[in-house]
Amino acid sequence: MDERQQLQAWDRRYFWHPFTQMQSFGDDDPWIIGHAEGNYVYELDGRRCLDAIASLWCNIHGHRHPRLDAALAAQLGKVAHSTTLGASNPPAILLAKALVEISPRGLEHCFFSEDGAEAVEIAVKMAAHYWRNVGRPEKQIFVTLENAYHGDTVGAVSVGGIPLFHEVYGHLLFPTLRLPSPYGLARERFAAPTGDSSAAAAAWLAELESLLAARGHEIAALILEAGIQGAAGLLPFSPGILAGAQALCRRFDCLLIVDEVATGFGRSGKLFACEWEDVEPDLMALGKGLSGGYLPLAATLATAAVYRSFLAPFGGARQFYHGHTYTGNPLACAVALENLAIFREGEVLAQLPAKIARLRDGLTAFRDQPWVGAVRQFGMMAAIELRNPSTAQAYPYGERVEYQVCRQAREMGVYTRPLGDAITIVPPLSVTEEEIDTILTVLHTAMSQGSHP
Ligand code: PMP
Repeated sequence: MDERQQLQAWDRRYFWHPFTQMQSFGDDDPWIIGHAEGNYVYELDGRRCLDAIASLWCNIHGHRHPRLDAALAAQLGKVAHSTTLGASNPPAILLAKALVEISPRGLEHCFFSEDGAEAVEIAVKMAAHYWRNVGRPEKQIFVTLENAYHGDTVGAVSVGGIPLFHEVYGHLLFPTLRLPSPYGLARERFAAPTGDSSAAAAAWLAELESLLAARGHEIAALILEAGIQGAAGLLPFSPGILAGAQALCRRFDCLLIVDEVATGFGRSGKLFACEWEDVEPDLMALGKGLSGGYLPLAATLATAAVYRSFLAPFGGARQFYHGHTYTGNPLACAVALENLAIFREGEVLAQLPAKIARLRDGLTAFRDQPWVGAVRQFGMMAAIELRNPSTAQAYPYGERVEYQVCRQAREMGVYTRPLGDAITIVPPLSVTEEEIDTILTVLHTAMSQGSHP
């Protein structure tokens, strides 16, 4: 047994992988990524793949970026970790300041955590606690969306809405009021993605308005992903939904929580997807790309009004009761600061329109193919639904056809994963236009010939 085979055997024996049916894990030679460089990951045996999944949507500037590596190494020479309960550290202070300065107006304070789910859960706790602080404890219900995904801890699952992931834990969750998925509504009633998107937005907003009119007095907050439901299959909102939701939340005195975990840090084409509609949430969750894809780091940003409601003389027991061992970890914050410094120089965002256009142009080759359903794009994220050409339906879940297509793409040098019946393209923002072409060409071949009967 060589080293690789030994590791594979131990991987199967000991390592319980996320979202993975372990009974079949290992049957198909899963990759063990030994190292990575730029936009490529390398298997232990040296085979390389273009990273079209950006290490689960978090890598921004490529792997082993010299500046991010250097920032991390420099901080390592000072201190790897010390608690931020009652103390502080320079990278966390500087990062909190930098995030407040670049985030949508109104967000004035930054609370750190490690993963996107935590950032969301913290926003949920802050919103519930805020209404108690301001003397309106009856406002405790959250409005959530069908198909929403905000992470896997119990609070984040409570505000999620993907039956496959969430139903089994139903008895653990707090109840919420559920609105339709904006894309689902647009697809069913207005023939999205090609139909009348402004009518679809108006219809969705009318549903929100009637809910807020009826129950606003007991609603704490509406929580939304920032313009696209990511994990549900990259389902974009009709334009106007985010801004309209904000206006309604203001009118009915409910907080707006925007989850930018997947969309933040350039993924949508702007630094934050909120910027497309000038949305200024009361609470915003960040994660994934915050550290450039290097280390677990997340943040919840809050308005001055939310923050101030927690202030009281010592002993008032009004502080926010939340914290983790690694909150404000200096290594993660140091690398995030360098990530923001790279963004500040402007080139990364300036190059995105051309890359997004290249992706859009390349996706046209998939439209109207008998083996494709809908094709969706939101900035530097795309999803192509796979269809059985003989039935025009998605393949049954258990057949794993989408997975086989990704497996074949991997053999051809492109690394991605399916989301339900869709094949996804979410590369690092540092991907070149030629590499975008490569991803699309490989996926076209894998999808058209791949594993079809
Ligand atoms: N919110 C959104 C919109 C996400 O897409 C995700 C993860 N894909 C999360 C929250 C959860 O983040 P994490 O996996 O870091 O907990």
